[in-house]
Amino acid sequence: MVYKAEYLWLDGTTPSAQIRSKTKVIADGEAPPIWGFDGSSTQQAAGESSDVVLNPVLTVPDPIRGGNNVIVMNETLLPDMSPHPTNTRAACAAAAEKFSSFDTWFGIEQEYTFFQGRDPLGWPEDGFPAPQGDYYCAVGSENIFGRDIVEEHMDACIAAGLTIAGINAEVMPGQWEYQIGPVGAPQVADELWIGRWLLARIAENYGVTVSLDAKPVKGDWNGAGCHTNFSTKQMRENYAACEAAAEALGANAAEHIANYGAGIEDRLTGQHETASYKDFSYGVSDRGASIRIPWQVARDQKGYIEDRRPNANMDPYLVTRLVIDTVCGAASK
Ligand code: ADP
Ligand code: MN
Ligand code: MN
Ligand code: MN
Repeated sequence: MVYKAEYLWLDGTTPSAQIRSKTKVIADGEAPPIWGFDGSSTQQAAGESSDVVLNPVLTVPDPIRGGNNVIVMNETLLPDMSPHPTNTRAACAAAAEKFSSFDTWFGIEQEYTFFQGRDPLGWPEDGFPAPQGDYYCAVGSENIFGRDIVEEHMDACIAAGLTIAGINAEVMPGQWEYQIGPVGAPQVADELWIGRWLLARIAENYGVTVSLDAKPVKGDWNGAGCHTNFSTKQMRENYAACEAAAEALGANAAEHIANYGAGIEDRLTGQHETASYKDFSYGVSDRGASIRIPWQVARDQKGYIEDRRPNANMDPYLVTRLVIDTVCGAASK
């Protein structure tokens, strides 16, 4: 007999990589092997030397197809087996390895917006819904749009064995969030991407699309972020290490902003629970700061901090790599 393996990888689309997939039928008892694809169709190669290698990094049960079928997350390699230029995972894995004694954990809050046609799901055909205020964590069909998809996605993430921590409806109607973690890098990013793929795949069945746009509706509507909560072993034991991590991020703010997702200037305006991309700040319970220290962390004098700046469309390999390099690098000095 055989099983089906859905191979996922990140393409070369700029400014934000997109997820692609195709299916390999494999004999029972054989592990998913190294495979390949036509990089000239994904902005990853020229036509005359088009082969890009798929190297499996994480295999999980496939909750869509069920049975013994699997989903396989891959990194992309060149034919000489070095990382492809669009492969941001390799550097993330190297940073995690270099600073492995820090035992860094990440919990990433993926916000996203459902669309049907040109408008967010549930928006009136003409004009706008009532202003924000009643939608966040609401119940009732006047305020909630797409819950069946969200529930099906959460069940799929659980069945796939992802470390999904929860879901919630967001401040803008049609906008939702799921959280992955806490788990180390690069696995947290592998899981976040499988979660993104499952979401878009399940929404297909409803005729709905998923947007990771950081500011899907201009004006007085919340953008979509990817708050990145993280801790090192030191931070989980001592509050001074939490403050030192926030200070280190402040000292390297420009490099982080430049790599936290396309269109970040449109989202980090200083309005709508954000700090301006031009400023850096951190504070306890402060959702208008770049970095929030949760109140329980200040009370317990240990724990983790939340980097509120990354966009919904960020590359989690790049963001976790930068956080590790900045925070662990500063703590090693
Ligand atoms: P918010 O109040 O900002 O909406 P969420 O509950 O959505 O917070 O997300 C918090 C995230 O922080 C979760 O994904 C959780 O797994 C993660 N988290 C909790 N403790 C830690 C820790 N010590 N290190 C890293 N992440 C953590
Ligand atoms: Mn959240
Ligand atoms: Mn949120
Ligand atoms: Mn948050």
